[in-house]
Amino acid sequence: MPAFRTLAEVQAALRSGALTMESLVASYLERIEATRHLNIYVEVFEQEALEQARRQDAAKPAGRLLGMVLAIKDVICYKDHEVTAGSNILRGFRSLFSATAVERLLAEGAIIIGRVNCDEFAMGSSNENSCYGPTRNAADPERVPGGSSGASAVAVQAGTCLAALGSDTGGSVRQPAAFCGVTGFKPSYGRISRHGLIAYGSSLDQIGTLAHSVEDTALLLEIMAGPDAYDSTASVEPVPAYSRLAPPDRPMRVAYFRTAIEHPHLDEGIRALTLRFADRIRQAGHTVEAIDFEYLDYIIPTYYVLATAEASSNLSRYDGVRFGHRSQAAHDLNSTYKRSRTEGFGAEVKRRIMLGTFVLSSGYYDAYYTKAQQVRRLIHDRTKEIFQQYDFILMPAAPTTAWRLGEKISDPVEMYLADVFTVQANLAGIPAIALPIGQHPEDGLPVGVQLMADAFQEEALLGFAHSLF
Ligand code: GLN
Repeated sequence: MPAFRTLAEVQAALRSGALTMESLVASYLERIEATRHLNIYVEVFEQEALEQARRQDAAKPAGRLLGMVLAIKDVICYKDHEVTAGSNILRGFRSLFSATAVERLLAEGAIIIGRVNCDEFAMGSSNENSCYGPTRNAADPERVPGGSSGASAVAVQAGTCLAALGSDTGGSVRQPAAFCGVTGFKPSYGRISRHGLIAYGSSLDQIGTLAHSVEDTALLLEIMAGPDAYDSTASVEPVPAYSRLAPPDRPMRVAYFRTAIEHPHLDEGIRALTLRFADRIRQAGHTVEAIDFEYLDYIIPTYYVLATAEASSNLSRYDGVRFGHRSQAAHDLNSTYKRSRTEGFGAEVKRRIMLGTFVLSSGYYDAYYTKAQQVRRLIHDRTKEIFQQYDFILMPAAPTTAWRLGEKISDPVEMYLADVFTVQANLAGIPAIALPIGQHPEDGLPVGVQLMADAFQEEALLGFAHSLF
């Protein structure tokens, strides 16, 4: 069975009779078995996926996603299936409903082949903060795949599915995409309903995709996007036909930040590849200019105040009473809360709940939370201002390539810095795509670059990205 890279290839093979849905699913299942050592899947929906495939072979339904075999991150609800956010506190919890995004994909004929690992409650940049243990990068199993949607990226990288869903609060789709050499996309805030996505930082979270191509990225977005009665933050902006991928009809203006390209944490090889990519854009007839962006150093502190504040509030629902883990040793209400949470949450999640509770506490609220909100506004406004003059912002996706397992686990601040180039898109609520641009000259690992556009400019962003590849 050939390794398919786009849905169009799969559908052509289905139409010609060279492929059946059953054989397609069976070959992905074999691949899942062959890559067990990477610890990608926490659950494989083997029988179910095969049955769906057989039904599709028999009835030939007309869905636009016929042949799309997907993996979903363990923070996205799928009715009657377990969902645990990589956390012991939710072990055994079964979802009562499907995320709106999942329902829309299934309605078009997609098959969900399994649930994949991630950092606990999507907190992390290496997929090491999971109750199921770390996922490994298929390019080098001694390396991390990035995070928090690390296993979603490896699932695609290793050919165990055609595309995967992840979630992106500060870079969790784009950074692993860069580490694994696949395409990772985060839409504008509100473009895809968050109903059925386990909440981390509600003002930042978005469902995103990992795929081999911009083509499939655009099609998946087109199907998932749009208003939803279950999520009042889902935008009512009309959903364009993203999958048309219209190329730009005039030369585009692209900016990059001097502060990003000259960033002391940016690896030399990545800097060179990013600048080479800028030349490629110029050669295609567009302009690329360096501009000043004075807030880059404030992005990480702002994000880690706001994301932890929101997380501490969102995670208060895991109290040992309503759902998830309840301590056997609890003897009254207080000890139920305390022991269940102590036993259920991992170290990084506890750290963030404490940080978030601290920045929201009386006496510190104004100094931290209010201040971070104000800085977020500045970053947002300055970003908007840039889009008055430029169509896109070009950035490295991550300052380094994939690091070794265990290398940063004892230094959370070092780990947080991995998000320095991705968080701006979440703070500003804008769409961003990470695209693979080759291998690092020294370590040979995948390198990604990122393009960002103004809010709800996905159509232009995806069309432009597609035209460059
Ligand atoms: N690495 C970032 C964090 O730990 C981003 C995670 C994400 O986007 N979910 O918060």
